[in-house]
Amino acid sequence: MLTSPVLVLNKFFVPVSVTSLKRAFILLYGGVAKAVNDDYETFDFDSWSEIRSVDEKDCIKTVSTIIKAPRVIILLRYDGYYRRQPRFNRINIFRRDNDTCQYCTKDYLKSELTLDHVVPRSLGGKSTWENIVCCCVKCNRKKGGRTPEQAGMKLLDKPNKPKWSLFSNFHMRTIKYKEWEPFLSFVDMSYWNVELED
Ligand SMILES: [Zn+2]
Repeated sequence: MLTSPVLVLNKFFVPVSVTSLKRAFILLYGGVAKAVNDDYETFDFDSWSEIRSVDEKDCIKTVSTIIKAPRVIILLRYDGYYRRQPRFNRINIFRRDNDTCQYCTKDYLKSELTLDHVVPRSLGGKSTWENIVCCCVKCNRKKGGRTPEQAGMKLLDKPNKPKWSLFSNFHMRTIKYKEWEPFLSFVDMSYWNVELED
């Protein structure tokens, strides 16, 4: 339940991401965010925890109380927008490579995968989308400080910068809860209107 998704809005009610319920509660409790209900009313942690839900499945039990799970939260001060480009980070590289070792092509848990510089840094390889792939520990060790050719290993695919953005993110495309609908239709609109950043 604490991992179930919550839609996150910037202070202009525009969706910027999806987070976990656990993180949403931390943001609410910290006063950084407010919960949003079906009438676009916003609630701080205290006022939200007074709401009684008829549906127990919708609630989180704590030691002292039962709290309704918010489906949408708004960040009170954040005025940024979603990025049109995926961030170059570990989680997105894993996502692009489907948690698959790009050499032995097996699926692994994220914790069992490392990142490999195709052309090693020692040979001038850069940390870019085109030069970093998911790699299991075994293949990483085997390859060592060599290029795939030198190590006699073959890449599953030529690594590329992913094309997807927030809109192709399944979290955002899949409307998990009816409470998300009004905001996500707004995304389509804001997509065309938003001022473009670099
Ligand atoms: Zn491997």
